[in-house]
Amino acid sequence: MCIFCQIVKGEIPCNKVYENDEFLAFHDINPKAPIHILVIPKEHVEKFQDTTPEMMAKITPFIQEIAKTLELDKRGYRLIVNNGDDGGQEVMHLHFHILGGTKLTWPQLAPDESKKYL
Ligand code: AMP
Repeated sequence: MCIFCQIVKGEIPCNKVYENDEFLAFHDINPKAPIHILVIPKEHVEKFQDTTPEMMAKITPFIQEIAKTLELDKRGYRLIVNNGDDGGQEVMHLHFHILGGTKLTWPQLAPDESKKYL
């Protein structure tokens, strides 16, 4: 069973922010910003590429509500989904990173070859 499924089952502890029947939000163990929350479906879905429109329609207001609760809605925040190997996904259970609490930088994410696609 994957580590996030173990968190859902309560077999591994997490610093929970909020949950409902379908989704769970908890603090990232290795935060990359003052506020770094992970939002996951309780059902095991491997990655963003496997989501359905139905799940996205439900997880979107859940994420927006978490952002409001943490007062990130006014100043803004970043939503990141690492998808698969090239996307840098390490935990193969779909998760949305909510990052905020400060003005975030926008780093170069790969060697500077991007301009060749312009
Ligand atoms: P990703 O690279 O998108 O797969 O991100 C996985 C994230 O899960 C990383 O930011 C980790 O710090 C985080 N993480 C891994 N294990 C745990 C855990 N037990 N509790 C909270 N966050 C975790």
